[in-house]
Formats: sequence, structure tokens, C-alpha cells
Amino acid sequence: MRKKIIAGNWKMHLLADSALELARGIAEDLKDVQEVEIAIFPPSPYLILMKEVLNGTPVKYGAQNMYFEEKGAFTGEISPGMLKDIGCSLVLIGHSERRKIFNEPDSLLNRKLKTALEFQLLPYFCIGETLEERESGKLFKVIETQLKEGLAGISEKQLESVVVAYEPVWAIGTGVVATPEQAQEMHAFIRDWFRKNYSEKTAENIRILYGGSIKPDNIQGLISLKDIDGGLVGGASLKLESFTQLVRYSR
Ligand code: PEP
Repeated sequence: MRKKIIAGNWKMHLLADSALELARGIAEDLKDVQEVEIAIFPPSPYLILMKEVLNGTPVKYGAQNMYFEEKGAFTGEISPGMLKDIGCSLVLIGHSERRKIFNEPDSLLNRKLKTALEFQLLPYFCIGETLEERESGKLFKVIETQLKEGLAGISEKQLESVVVAYEPVWAIGTGVVATPEQAQEMHAFIRDWFRKNYSEKTAENIRILYGGSIKPDNIQGLISLKDIDGGLVGGASLKLESFTQLVRYSR
């Protein structure tokens, strides 16, 4: 039985006071929720503050990005050891904004994934096609390539500590959510990819989240689908009420 996850990606939003207030609110309002795994990805400068607020609560937290080297002359980067040091247990790898705005290719994401796993940071590996790729009929090929190259050399055992987030780029921050049919079709395709390339067991166990304009009024139609194991949420994770609703609706 795959435990559902609701994860909030705060992107480059909030300042220290509002980040702390939101994290505290989430931990307090959702303290009794056991059926759903709750995760947040605050901006990096505020991660260190999360330790105090979230320690001993069911809310996990992690970074929106990291570098693949352990240490060294990499100005501006954050190492996996640093993330562990400040209590992170998770990291987003390959969010479409990293892929597109910061030109992160699959080969780089593969290195980041491997390092995250080495440091026992659970990666949420994000994949997804653009509108153009969908409309030109290349969508399954694109997803297959992202899986194949991103996960190259990652073992079946390591996959027990990986979450996949399918986020169609055209649905992120646009208000255009994938229809339940579109989402289920792709999630089933991704699960099947794991069946073919790893095993039935991996396919059955790996959690595949949907991301892209999730809101309290559309989550139920998505979360109830067979192959959708939760949501990675941007905009609606920035308000306490909508985020807590998303978690409650996913129970
Ligand atoms: C995201 O940033 O991963 C995301 C899905 O954003 P939004 O929910 O705002 O579309």
C-alpha cells in the first residue's frame, strides 16, 4: 500500500517571518494526520529555521535544489552534507524551472540524484513534458528519456528511496490542471516503465506524484486515481488553509 504524499514547493516566495508562520501553522494544524505524508520545500535560507519548528512533527522538509559535489570551490552552491546538517531529509531534483531556466540537463540531474541517495536525502525526481512536446505527440518519448537518463545507474534498491513527480510543464503555475484522464494515462505509463525496466515490485511500490495547478477544488479528482500517489503543489501550498485542505482531502 503506497502512502499518499502532499508536498509544498514554496519556490522563491515568503520571507523568514512568513515562512516560519506557515511552517508552524502546518505542523500545528496537521499534527494528527498520519495517513498522509506531509512535506515542504522552503527557500534555502529558511531551511535552517525549520529544524526548530518541525522537529518532532510529522512534517518533513527539504531543499528545492542541491549540487552533486560534496564540497569545494563551487560558489553559490549548496552541498548534500549541508542539507543533512540542517535537518533536511528530502530534496527536489529536476523541477521544470531548474531544467528550463537554469538549463539543467538529464545527465546533471542523474549526478544529483546519485549524490542525494548517497547522502540519504530522499529525492523527489521531477519530470514532465512541455505543451509543444505533448501536442506534437512526443510526450511519452520525452518522459521515457527523462526517466532513462535521469535514473541511469540507479539500482532497484535505491529506488525504494526515490519519489517521482510528474509535472506537465504546461500545468505548472498556469491554472490549467491536467484532466484526470491525462494524468492517469501518464502515471500508468510511468509505472509501467518501472515494471519493464526494474520489476513488478518496484512498479507497485514507487510513489508517483502529480504536480501542476493543484487546488483544493481539483485534488479529489486526481488523488482518487489508481496511479496517483499524491501531489507536489506550488501556489496552493503558500496559504495555510489551502495546503491543509489539500492534505485533508487526500486522506
Ligand atoms: C510546482 O511548482 O511544482 C507546481 C506544481 O506549481 P503549481 O502548483 O503552482 O502549478
